[in-house]
Amino acid sequence: MQIVWTAADLEEFHGGVCVPTMGALHEGHLSLIRRAREEADAHAAPLPVVVTIFVNPAQFAPGEDFARYPRTFEADCTRAESCGADVVFAPEVGEVYPQGVEAPIDPRVVIPEVARQPGLEEKSRPQFFIGVCRVVHRLFEMVKPRAAVFGEKDYQQLLTIRAMVREMALPVEILSEPTVREEDGLAMSSRNVYLAPPQRKRALALSKALKAARSASSVAEAESAMRSILLANQVEIDYAVVRDAHTLMPIESLALPARALVAGRVGPVRLIDNMAV
Ligand code: AMP
Repeated sequence: MQIVWTAADLEEFHGGVCVPTMGALHEGHLSLIRRAREEADAHAAPLPVVVTIFVNPAQFAPGEDFARYPRTFEADCTRAESCGADVVFAPEVGEVYPQGVEAPIDPRVVIPEVARQPGLEEKSRPQFFIGVCRVVHRLFEMVKPRAAVFGEKDYQQLLTIRAMVREMALPVEILSEPTVREEDGLAMSSRNVYLAPPQRKRALALSKALKAARSASSVAEAESAMRSILLANQVEIDYAVVRDAHTLMPIESLALPARALVAGRVGPVRLIDNMAV
């Protein structure tokens, strides 16, 4: 496996399957890399698998954890290689944003409705999807992948990227993988390392709440069950809702495909999770 830092060194890996990450790789990321390997090997001449590791300053607000975001580059490279990556692309900020991160976003980048309307992540983190669309578009420009794999763990982000690619007619197929969880149900996240043991226990309330939503018979019942479980575990709720699985807009009934989504703070750590209902 090679490690490269510049877009110029990526040329031989164009047309492959890309897995964009911010590093601190765990089993969730590794499931995406394995999926990318499978997709790449399904072609007569196997395609390259490109894992990108870039902690994107554009998607962190001032005061968020950009500076202390976990960075474990050597272990990440070993893990990526063991799952079949052909190259890790780990650009510097100047490579991704040659005009500087403060420069205006490329006006061609579309921030789709699903990133602006539902009142979920974008309400708590107004800059977030602008930063995500900007970096994913720029990574695609440099990696030139045929396909890219994202996790359902970040469900609104997955729908945002699918919509951006569709609306901009980018020639990239977006693939997704289900959320990988710890044995007790906690969704794996690079930020779980910030949880002290008592907080780690309380964090289980997110997946418990989502499971309760799955067995509810109405939207109102599901949302009320989620709130009680989260509040009983002192989770400071940002949202705990059941929404249309495609638009993430509010729904009246569970007739169409729906998704339960939660976000909240456990101590100093903001966690998100979601499940199909
Ligand atoms: P991140 O490094 O957190 O930006 O995540 C990079 C990619 O890994 C995104 O597509 C995430 O949705 C995905 N991901 C993160 N955690 C998980 C998980 N527990 N299961 C599956 N995919 C995940």
